[in-house]
Amino acid sequence: MFLKEKCNLCGECLMKCPYLAYSEEKAKEEFKKLIDGEPTPITAECITCAACNMFCPEGANPFDLINDRQEETGTFKVTDEWIRMMKMASKMPSKVIKGDPEKPIMNLCSVGDILPGVIVGQLFDGMSLLKGGDYFCYFGWVHAGKPSMVSENAQIFVDNLAKIGAEEIICYHDDCYAMLTNKVKEFGIDLPFRPIHILEYLRDYIKEHNDQIKKLNIKIGYQQPCASRYAFENDKILDELFELIGIERVDRKYDRVSALCCSGVMAVMLNLGKEESNKWRMNNIMDAKEAGAEAMVFLCPLCVLSLRSRAKAQGLEPYIISNLVRLALGEKLTYGGAGKIYK
Ligand code: SF4
Ligand code: SF4
Repeated sequence: MFLKEKCNLCGECLMKCPYLAYSEEKAKEEFKKLIDGEPTPITAECITCAACNMFCPEGANPFDLINDRQEETGTFKVTDEWIRMMKMASKMPSKVIKGDPEKPIMNLCSVGDILPGVIVGQLFDGMSLLKGGDYFCYFGWVHAGKPSMVSENAQIFVDNLAKIGAEEIICYHDDCYAMLTNKVKEFGIDLPFRPIHILEYLRDYIKEHNDQIKKLNIKIGYQQPCASRYAFENDKILDELFELIGIERVDRKYDRVSALCCSGVMAVMLNLGKEESNKWRMNNIMDAKEAGAEAMVFLCPLCVLSLRSRAKAQGLEPYIISNLVRLALGEKLTYGGAGKIYK
């Protein structure tokens, strides 16, 4: 939620935005228009990465205002295909795969089947798995310029998870964790269970099975998902996990607070499109490569789809993070590091 009382119109949010990169004067002027509900190009050009929520020194959440104005004005235009896919996410057949009652429960949201050969191996053995539309978190609708879909469906998402009766639910998708820890508070929804981020689960699993770990000793570029900005404390857990499995996260321009979106959304924006999206995707990959990365590591399966082949073409082996952990546990990755076998 945008906190107007905190905003001093400093313009930092739009000056630091890597895509808009406004001058100080323009940033102040355009942000004022945004607050006053006047037309501004921001609503059509912002790619919904949420980075400015972190750039704002006052904690005013400028992206939340941009996103609301995108919806009010209808100026954030995306392809019909993207809207169709977003609608489909909540209609996918739902399934509860019951596992060992002593083992954890994980919500795969609507993205658990996107990458083959990932939810396998000892990390997931015996887990109960939730998947499909009932367990879709709706958070992705911010990237369609429709934040009302998030607020209107948050309670339904929480209720569906609560029906499982678990004390703890692991979130495979970063979006679900952002929804359950950040957005539900904003909407005043109580959680009858504790959401666990997949990074926390992986780190704790590795701590408990440290004797099985063979350190990987590789340098990687990390692709941070946009939703991570809503629960940035997990970045420390990620660093701990990398250290435990012998990974060096290269120090590059586009990481942590300055991370770039995977550019998947840019590709579906009607006024930007594939060419612009490809340019930013390559900026991102080359930044990792030039910083010395040998591999590209992802947390979100949708970021994988956006960047894995470009990373591979630049000699950076793509991995979704759980597969990297499986590798350190000595497991074979039958579908490659990121759900695709490259010949
Ligand atoms: S959400 Fe991202 S693209 Fe939009 S203004 Fe903020 S930093 Fe820029
Ligand atoms: S939202 Fe934050 S960064 Fe943007 S103008 Fe207001 S105070 Fe400055």
